[in-house]
Amino acid sequence: MTHDLPPKLQWIEDELQKLRESGLYTHIRTLESPQGAWLVVDGKKVLNFCSNNYLGLANHPRLVQAAKEAIEKYGVGPGAVRTIAGTMKLHVELEKRLAAFKGVEDAITFQSGFNANLGTIPALVGRGDVIFSDELNHASIIDGSRLSRAQIIRYEHCNAEDLEAKLKEHRHQYNHALVVTDGVFSMDGDIAPLDKIYEVTKNYDAILMVDDAHGEGVLGRGGRGIVDHFNLHGKVDIEVGTLSKAFGVVGGVVAGNAKIVEWLRQRGRPFLFSSAMTVPDTAACLAAVDLLEESTDLVDKLWENTRYFKGEMKNLGFDTGQSVTPITPIMLGEAKLAQEFSRRLFDEGVFAMAIGYPTVPKGKARIRVMISAAHEREDLDKGLEAFAKVGRSLGVIK
Ligand SMILES: *Cc1c(COP(=O)(O)O)cnc(C)c1O
Repeated sequence: MTHDLPPKLQWIEDELQKLRESGLYTHIRTLESPQGAWLVVDGKKVLNFCSNNYLGLANHPRLVQAAKEAIEKYGVGPGAVRTIAGTMKLHVELEKRLAAFKGVEDAITFQSGFNANLGTIPALVGRGDVIFSDELNHASIIDGSRLSRAQIIRYEHCNAEDLEAKLKEHRHQYNHALVVTDGVFSMDGDIAPLDKIYEVTKNYDAILMVDDAHGEGVLGRGGRGIVDHFNLHGKVDIEVGTLSKAFGVVGGVVAGNAKIVEWLRQRGRPFLFSSAMTVPDTAACLAAVDLLEESTDLVDKLWENTRYFKGEMKNLGFDTGQSVTPITPIMLGEAKLAQEFSRRLFDEGVFAMAIGYPTVPKGKARIRVMISAAHEREDLDKGLEAFAKVGRSLGVIK
């Protein structure tokens, strides 16, 4: 049933109409199948080049089984926030296992990576303090920073020299300081120069924090993340991660210095005021850690797929930008072209998102392909064939 629109809500309809007219309205597609290399989307079977399911764990039998068994034993919901009655044995075990996996002192979980940033940043800095933040950091870092009420100073993307200049100029005017960067940047697939950022930051009495959402389960030995990738163990104070991408479930984690983790158990607001991760999520994440510790096969396959797909796309004549990770942007320029490309790919049975302004700068629209260990070689070949066909028909390649 719909009612007439009350006048006080007319402005919302006006704004929505503007989005529709400018082609920026998000049409949300609905999945009718589990996550995997292939999806049923809006009734059509398509090759999945969109999801963050890097290792294919979202529907992995071991994770599914672990979730089922945990439900039999512990039920479904946590019933409370972690600090009252919501901390179950499973949560404690997951935190211990994640800390060991990453080779750090301690870890704390949140309900999502987004919440991990919202909880961590305001616990570490406040009024009179300062945050030095990469200009392309994720929305959850931006929101967490704003909530903290600390001064935010943006430095140029992945530029440790600019960071140093900003630290030199501003650090002394504030009390506590935080330097924060994404590990892998989700739109370009480039990696923060964390080694250089560490070298600069260590001279300025600042906490160093990296958000490794797209590096967890992807970078480093067996997917241990960006700190392992750069061999910076013990040097980065805190790593935020998500259990919603490579780990295939949902949840967030903050791992690193034990004193900071202890402080977050006292002051991380989503930990204190929002209910804990659910039983099946927590149990499935434990199974994901088991899999990652047992073997590097899935991580190896992810990288093998990535090398193959990127190499073949370059051979076809596509521009895959600056990426050094499984995130593969296909640079197209104009947003209209990217949208048309994505539409035609979908007609060919390939689901790959067009991304345009304001998510990326004007004139830098692209299709973003997310490679996964769930893909088999013939899946990638099918995708390449569709890209070649659409690319030729739109005059993007010869
Ligand atoms: C995806 C992402 C998040 C959010 O993680 P969720 O677990 O989905 O809430 C946070 N930070 C970065 C850099 C991300 O890419």
